[in-house]
Amino acid sequence: MSEIGSDDLKAMVLAIAARIADSRERLNRLDAALGDGDHGASISGAFELAASEVADLPDPKPSEIWLTTAQSLMNGMGGASGALFGTLFLKGGAAIRGKERLVKADLNQLWAASLAGVKARGKAEIGDKTMVDALEPAVLAFAANDNIADAWAAAAEAASNGAESTRALIARQGRAKYLGERGIGHQDPGATTIALMFEALDNYWREMTNGKA
Ligand code: ADP
Ligand code: MG
Repeated sequence: MSEIGSDDLKAMVLAIAARIADSRERLNRLDAALGDGDHGASISGAFELAASEVADLPDPKPSEIWLTTAQSLMNGMGGASGALFGTLFLKGGAAIRGKERLVKADLNQLWAASLAGVKARGKAEIGDKTMVDALEPAVLAFAANDNIADAWAAAAEAASNGAESTRALIARQGRAKYLGERGIGHQDPGATTIALMFEALDNYWREMTNGKA
């Protein structure tokens, strides 16, 4: 398996939605400690909408699946992070416009565009205790591996480590900024969502290629 088609991308959005739905309460609790406690409810609701909209697309190109997800996330959740998660999929979808199937280099471009979009929109850098602390290492780890299966696994591990690294940080963006040092010891919910996303993508890939590789 070295190419990704629309059926895979559809299934990937559904897999992300399911993993985030499972983690709704945990994400709410993380956001209760650092923000306003709504992250789990809003991101799981928005991904549920995305999953149903994507499942309904009759014969989509890869970019349409990502752009539909972006639209659902922007419509389905408010706040800073709806726009940021929407941007992630919007820029990723724009980067693969016109393609029927994606090879590894296309996926590298997709993730590079997603990361650049989130950073441009939110102005957060590594170390600011946001989703960027999970997304940037995941995108770099993905690009550093030529084999797609290795790339998903490395990205999932990097995202998880990045999310955990936020525990020690003082927030410089988002609501958690107002807590200052009192936020130390709490893991960032948006970074945790990114880690769950890459975990779901890695799991999907492993299950799908199991026995076929
Ligand atoms: P809100 O803060 O509007 O309630 P959520 O609770 O859904 O939104 O999401 C909070 C998450 O958004 C944070 O955990 C953080 O990862 C992310 N976030 C907030 N501001 C920024 C930013 N400027 N850049 C990147 N990510 C951000
Ligand atoms: Mg919140």
